[in-house]
Amino acid sequence: MHIEQVIAAEKDGDLQRIGKKIVDKERITPEEGVILFEKASLPYLGALANFVRERLHGHKTYFNRNFHIEPTNICVFACNFCSYSRLYAHREEGWELTADQMLNIVKSYDGKPVTEVHIVGGVHPKLTLEFFADLLRKNKSTPPRPAYKSFHTCGTRIYVSKGEKVDRRRTEIFEGSRSRFPARRRRRNF
Ligand code: SF4
Repeated sequence: MHIEQVIAAEKDGDLQRIGKKIVDKERITPEEGVILFEKASLPYLGALANFVRERLHGHKTYFNRNFHIEPTNICVFACNFCSYSRLYAHREEGWELTADQMLNIVKSYDGKPVTEVHIVGGVHPKLTLEFFADLLRKNKSTPPRPAYKSFHTCGTRIYVSKGEKVDRRRTEIFEGSRSRFPARRRRRNF
């Protein structure tokens, strides 16, 4: 189905109007973005997004080549969608990698065509900003030196707030490594 047919089939006048703007290469306003967020169905949004993607890139699709490191599954949170976290009180059911174990994972990819290390895991109540800042500094000087996408936003906030006395450079290393990873969460007792 062509995008014009998708837009014509849309019953909501606002969504139709915004769809036509996108087809006509007009920039939509922040308010119109909110309307799309609040009112548009996923298929309608997907059709508009794919239309713009193909207009910009044709039939090319790009993939990142990454590998994952999950330092621990011990976590202070209990996100509804999370299937693997464990409370510190039950840490014997989980895992906690040492810095050397994580560095060895990075080294094992030397010579392979990777572009990114993806680091996510639990927000461990006992690990510190200093631990992660040192880990990142060592990782960044260890081949194959890919880009880093690391840590939940909530974890970053907690580690940085716990590390107020750590020197500024280490904090910057840590903050510079974080990624966008929205996580709905609620506090647990631990
Ligand atoms: S913060 Fe991450 S590891 Fe912790 S419960 Fe949420 S999704 Fe799971």
